Amino acid sequence: MGMQERNYWLTTVEMPRAEASPLLPENADVAVIGAGFTGLSAARTLAQRGAKVAVLESETIGWGASSRNGGMVLTGMKLGVNQLISLYGRELAQRMYAASLASIDCVEQIVREEGIECDFSRSGHLEVACKRKHFDDYARQAEVVAREFNHELRVVERQDLSAEIGSNIYFGGMVDEVSARLNPARYVAGLANAAIKAGAEIFEHARVESLERESRHGEAGWKLTTSQGRLWARDVFVGTSGYTGRATPALQKKIIPIGSFIITTEILPEKLARELSPRNRMIYDSKNYLYYYRLTPDGRMLFGGRAAFFPENDQTVRRSAEILRRGMIEVYPQLSDAKLEYVWGGTLDFAFDIMPHAGQIDGMYYAVGYAGHGVAMATYQGQKMAELIAAQATAGETPENPFVGIPFPGAPLGLYNGTPWFLPFAGAWYKFLDWVS
Ligand SMILES: Cc1cc2nc3c(=O)[nH]c(=O)nc-3n(C[C@H](O)[C@H](O)[C@H](O)COP(=O)(O)OP(=O)(O)OC[C@H]3O[C@@H](n4cnc5c(N)ncnc54)[C@H](O)[C@@H]3O)c2cc1C
Repeated sequence: MGMQERNYWLTTVEMPRAEASPLLPENADVAVIGAGFTGLSAARTLAQRGAKVAVLESETIGWGASSRNGGMVLTGMKLGVNQLISLYGRELAQRMYAASLASIDCVEQIVREEGIECDFSRSGHLEVACKRKHFDDYARQAEVVAREFNHELRVVERQDLSAEIGSNIYFGGMVDEVSARLNPARYVAGLANAAIKAGAEIFEHARVESLERESRHGEAGWKLTTSQGRLWARDVFVGTSGYTGRATPALQKKIIPIGSFIITTEILPEKLARELSPRNRMIYDSKNYLYYYRLTPDGRMLFGGRAAFFPENDQTVRRSAEILRRGMIEVYPQLSDAKLEYVWGGTLDFAFDIMPHAGQIDGMYYAVGYAGHGVAMATYQGQKMAELIAAQATAGETPENPFVGIPFPGAPLGLYNGTPWFLPFAGAWYKFLDWVS
């Protein structure tokens, strides 16, 4: 088979489809924008609590990053632990780290409760050091994480690394046994089915074009204009991540969309697959411009990276395949002759401070900013924000969520209108940082 420009994960699942004649209801308690992990997780929890929920998705269920990612269910946040503590103080940083661990439990629990067959497994993750000084830093990080967050990371010396990875280009590694893996397309399909089972309605090809405040029968709420017509909702929850657009301009200005790309090889001989990744870990390296990789359940090498600093399109996808193949062979010369079968890209979302954010903006609820750690955190934030929305509607108790209410910075000097003109420069900057740091 030649290489296809297509998301491999989608070949492993039948995505649920919204009903054939999608007539929007006149009103809903909550309109959820986006049918990815964030929106669907929120819709499931809200519907379970008795809310009338309409999920509005401009494309199809799981169309965004949620079906396209590496399926790495990771502990921690993108921001380093020392930075986390110095920015937020120990107490808040501890709650944030604890939330990152709870987010993996949350995925595990949903997968179990809903019986989602998505190859979820606590396979652990392995971070590998591209430079000696990155490795030296691992011991310090592990010490901080043990002391401050009561969580164990295991440092792996270079001479012991062959038990973890069949590559000799790295200076050592660090293992976290708590992280997990899954098949993201199967997981997002399962979440959609779970939301539907709980009573939420999902509308595909229903792009939200604009939102206006409008009261109905004395109740404050929103009029949403979509490509399928209008509806009124008491509350709006935005889960549009890297695809956030003009309908929510205040949020769009705070999010940098970044393209990430993935290739997969043909199915590898079992012995070779085991040599490349003996413990089947989720692996990523220590660079800013990082590679992340893993085996798929059927034994392909899936290799991803931020190969272009532009959101995906035909050209960036094709170019990325070659760049990533070269990267993969640097890591694993054993794969020089392996055929590539799939390449695809997707867009993820970074806030200017590389942190997840949730709360209310312009009166709408939102959760964004997962910075490549969204499989677990998006699921968790969807659930937590649903609990918050339900609590505020019924004057119930506010759930604990350390990411609500932290400062949410926009671009320096406000120089950003949602068109990321600076990304090529940012790309060059990151490459430069990798070279010097
Ligand atoms: C290539 C790639 C690899 C990744 N690898 C990993 C990984 O291994 N581990 C990890 O934890 N994270 C990873 N991520 C990040 C992770 O996939 C995301 O953080 C997560 O899927 C975000 O989920 P979401 O539901 O918030 O957004 P999305 O899944 O992107 O969904 C947003 C949805 O909103 C819809 N939408 C946008 N605007 C509108 C509108 N106006 N009206 C209606 N609908 C709208 C879009 O069509 C889209 O379907 C990766 C991302 C990419 C792209």
